Amino acid sequence: MTDEYRRDTRLVRAGLERSQFQETSEAMFLNSGYVYDSAEEAAAAFAGEADRFVYSRYGNPTVSMLQTRLAALEGAEACLATGTGMAGVFAALACQLDKGDRVVASRALFGACYAILNDILPRWGVTTEFVDGTDLDQWRAALATPAKLVFFESPSNPMLDLVDIPAVAEMAHAAGALVVIDNVFATPIAQKPLELGADIVIYSATKHIDGQGRVLGGAVLADEEFIKERMLKFYRQTGPTISPFNAWVLLKSLETLALRVDRQAASAASLAGWLESRPDIAGLRYPGLPSHPQHELAKRQMSNGGTLLSFTLAGGKDEAFRVLNALRLIDISNNLGDSKTLACHPGSTTHSSISAEERAGMGIADGSIRLSVGLEDLEDLKADLDQALGRG
Ligand SMILES: *Cc1c(COP(=O)(O)O)cnc(C)c1O
Repeated sequence: MTDEYRRDTRLVRAGLERSQFQETSEAMFLNSGYVYDSAEEAAAAFAGEADRFVYSRYGNPTVSMLQTRLAALEGAEACLATGTGMAGVFAALACQLDKGDRVVASRALFGACYAILNDILPRWGVTTEFVDGTDLDQWRAALATPAKLVFFESPSNPMLDLVDIPAVAEMAHAAGALVVIDNVFATPIAQKPLELGADIVIYSATKHIDGQGRVLGGAVLADEEFIKERMLKFYRQTGPTISPFNAWVLLKSLETLALRVDRQAASAASLAGWLESRPDIAGLRYPGLPSHPQHELAKRQMSNGGTLLSFTLAGGKDEAFRVLNALRLIDISNNLGDSKTLACHPGSTTHSSISAEERAGMGIADGSIRLSVGLEDLEDLKADLDQALGRG
């Protein structure tokens, strides 16, 4: 399946395993356990001699179909689906880090990822050195010392800074480190980290992969050796497993992922260009626009500019709040990747727990608004932003 067909065919069909009832759509196996024909069969399953399901914390047919489809989409050898994106991040890191290990990470991370590296792992003797992910000199300096892992997000939340994936992967590998990337903002449609040199790719499937505000989910994709030899044991014992119901929803979501992301990215590009030319916008970040400081890099490693953009209003927080409150169609929400267009003020929501100084260091101003562009008619989105911005 994986090698024979192209991406859009894989999104609809990869992993499908029909039961004896020959159902068209993937079946939902909402079972926790499995039965055996004999005590010998149970013993063989536990001895690892029989390839079969034994308990849904370890594996389930619907979850397995999702994992196969995600791996086929990503071009990865193997995948483990998790209950949330954060369960995936934590399991992928914790399954391979030992006391005394060193991680090098980009500072511009999703808040909970930052907390794992900055608060939780240090309690177990794992240290992280944070760098400015856009600055190759900082990566080079940090990776002059051996490290176990490199972790980053590209584009980053919310200012859409990029990390040069091939360049950082080369330095990481020379330092003995595996490269772990949180590819949520780019989506598996716009960026292929494994082809660019990364080793482990993580998704919050809650975002674009579901993309319709329904379920939480996550995924970790890598080679067989990492998934089967390293992560699976940790996963079985600690239980970050996804519910088969959520896996089924995500299987259906994948069928339309490319359609949705392509349309959302096209709308985001159009809105970004239109917003940038308005006099009330003090600054705008969108990797697909030539004004983005890393636009050339975006063109090299992404196939579109993504579905998110950030803009800054000169009037600071008061003006940002006024504009958000004036929106009629676009919702105020910290979620992203949804078919509904969502706007948020990172300074008082997603990034409120970090200091004003750190926010400024990440380029987040008091007047910054992050926009996750959905599937509504572009003209309706423009009209809504126009009336909200215009009422000064
Ligand atoms: C949402 C998000 C996560 C966490 O995913 P959950 O499914 O909410 O646990 C991690 N990284 C990024 C970049 C995200 O946007």
